[in-house]
Amino acid sequence: MTDSRCDVLIAGGGIVGLAVALEITRRFPRLRLLLLEKEDRVGRHQSGHNSGVIHSGVYYKPGSLKAALCLEGARAMIDFCRAHGLPHEVCGKVIVATRKEEFPRLEELRRRGEANGLSGIRLIDAGELREIEPHASGLRALAVPSTGVTDYAAVCEKYAELIRKQGGAILTSTAVTGLRELTGEVIVETGSAEFSATYLINCAGLFSDRVARMAGGEPDVMIVPFRGEYYHLIPQRSSLVKALIYPVPDPQFPFLGVHFTRRISGTVDAGPNAVLAFRREGYRRTDFSLRDTASSLVFPGFWRMASKHWRSGLHEFHHSFSKGAFVRALQRLLPEVREEDLVPGGSGVRAQALRRDGSLVDDFQFVPNGRMLHVLNVPSPAATASLVIGREIVMTAEKSCGF
Ligand SMILES: Cc1cc2nc3c(=O)[nH]c(=O)nc-3n(C[C@H](O)[C@H](O)[C@H](O)COP(=O)(O)OP(=O)(O)OC[C@H]3O[C@@H](n4cnc5c(N)ncnc54)[C@H](O)[C@@H]3O)c2cc1C
Repeated sequence: MTDSRCDVLIAGGGIVGLAVALEITRRFPRLRLLLLEKEDRVGRHQSGHNSGVIHSGVYYKPGSLKAALCLEGARAMIDFCRAHGLPHEVCGKVIVATRKEEFPRLEELRRRGEANGLSGIRLIDAGELREIEPHASGLRALAVPSTGVTDYAAVCEKYAELIRKQGGAILTSTAVTGLRELTGEVIVETGSAEFSATYLINCAGLFSDRVARMAGGEPDVMIVPFRGEYYHLIPQRSSLVKALIYPVPDPQFPFLGVHFTRRISGTVDAGPNAVLAFRREGYRRTDFSLRDTASSLVFPGFWRMASKHWRSGLHEFHHSFSKGAFVRALQRLLPEVREEDLVPGGSGVRAQALRRDGSLVDDFQFVPNGRMLHVLNVPSPAATASLVIGREIVMTAEKSCGF
């Protein structure tokens, strides 16, 4: 696209922005679509720094958007990978209770999974757990056979290729820096040019609240970055894990607890934890941004969240700074794992929306506003469900913006 006028402009080339673009170019081939991504490639942030799991839908509250979209999205993702020759495997997973107090929560997960329409999930005893994962230790577990793994960076590249084939344009190294809504159009400023769009869809991930604010709106939520740090099992010890071994998650917290993931590449990851980050794209412990930290500290919900979750927050910091503590958490699932079996892996930063009342937004959140639609909370399992999230966002935009 050489002119600066388009029908739909998407800010953000992560898996969600790309899935929206894919849906629009497929359903509305005559619309001129432009996607702007600030990095030099698509999928550089959350979408390229995740665990690569195709979630099955067992965790989510029945009736939530997450529950509705995960199951369908997982099937769509597997079909997509199959159709385009992308690496994937349906390897199954086990969620392991290591203490009796976790039994009711494990049972609740089974109920949720069944209510969400998963087939094949079942509670198993310690003996059966050992047949599936010979080195795992637990009192009871939930076997979830439909969980899989893929490579979401490769999925993003494929989405981008298809968008271009279907006539959409993607400009990388172009950050949205300002937005103005005029009669009948939205003016989108970047460092180098201005674009005029009839509709704007904000899929800026860790910066989605800031992009929403550029338009003069005051979203009810602020994005809080939570870094997830990984270790890798050294190749000589990777046979300790066959597929995916998860703990029973804490229902007070939207994260799943450190677990083992055999990636599609064969590497076994341990993690991620969930540490409050002091920079939105802060992949290292030492990363700090005054602007990001200050904006968190002045948001009223931040202090309310801190007063509620300070204990688990400190626990996560401890696990971040102490490899020993991290390993002890893992040993509850896999007693044979030792500190020397693990080497530092990468990290990812989750964009988690926080309300003014201090509660963390659990479900996906898409907020229409005039000619714009802001995607303000698309945490895990959004990579899994990206194809159907794209469809839902386009349907919401169709209703609210009318294209
Ligand atoms: C550690 C970790 C593990 C996870 N594991 C899984 C998993 O196993 N399975 C699963 O389904 N989900 C998982 N997730 C969640 C999943 O990765 C995210 O939900 C998903 O990637 C969100 O996609 P996105 O497009 O919204 O965000 P992103 O991928 O972050 O994309 C947003 C894009 O917007 C761009 N951007 C920001 N500001 C601007 C601007 N001003 N102008 C232009 N572009 C801009 C950014 O550069 C970025 O590329 C995990 C996430 C993390 C962090």
